[in-house]
Amino acid sequence: MVEESGRKKRPNILVTGTPGTGKTTTCAALAEATKLRHMNVGDLVGDENLHDGWNDELDCFVLNEDLVCDELEDQMEEGGNIMDYHGCDFFPERWFDCVVVLQTDNTVLYDRLSRRGYNESKLSNNIECEIFQVLLEEAKESYPEVIAMKSDTIEDINRNVSTLTDWVRNWHPTS
Ligand code: ADP
Ligand code: MN
Repeated sequence: MVEESGRKKRPNILVTGTPGTGKTTTCAALAEATKLRHMNVGDLVGDENLHDGWNDELDCFVLNEDLVCDELEDQMEEGGNIMDYHGCDFFPERWFDCVVVLQTDNTVLYDRLSRRGYNESKLSNNIECEIFQVLLEEAKESYPEVIAMKSDTIEDINRNVSTLTDWVRNWHPTS
């Protein structure tokens, strides 16, 4: 029998949700608390050229799913990553030990995204995405277990980070 060589010592967590729901803030705090590695996939795509050019309409890179998955495979196999991205259906299911979807009240999200300077169409696209729970549905279709977490206030972030930190501390390679 082939020995299972790639068993992870630390878990991989996916944090997804509509832009503005607090993924990057949550992941940064969680990485600080757990010493897991925060992977901001959007930044990686730009920095490492893992895309097929710029989409003017959506005002973002056209992510190349194969390039992204190839780039991340080794380190995901190794474990200990917190993945931060507003999409999840193209990542291999086996990568993650925990999948979290952040959710924010529409009016709160609207204010956050306008403060970010999003134009009207980008704003309404993202608000609609949140109203229809697009990321939650996408996650549920892609992974057997998904945790939805409310992210309206700083207290929510603190509670979510503390819940996830406890989860990481209790995680064992055999589980
Ligand atoms: P994302 O990575 O999902 O796009 P960010 O973490 O960049 O979201 O957060 C967007 C903005 O909203 C930041 O200015 C952040 O401080 C604020 N923010 C995010 N989540 C919360 C929250 N739960 N409570 C208060 N402010 C938040
Ligand atoms: Mn972000």
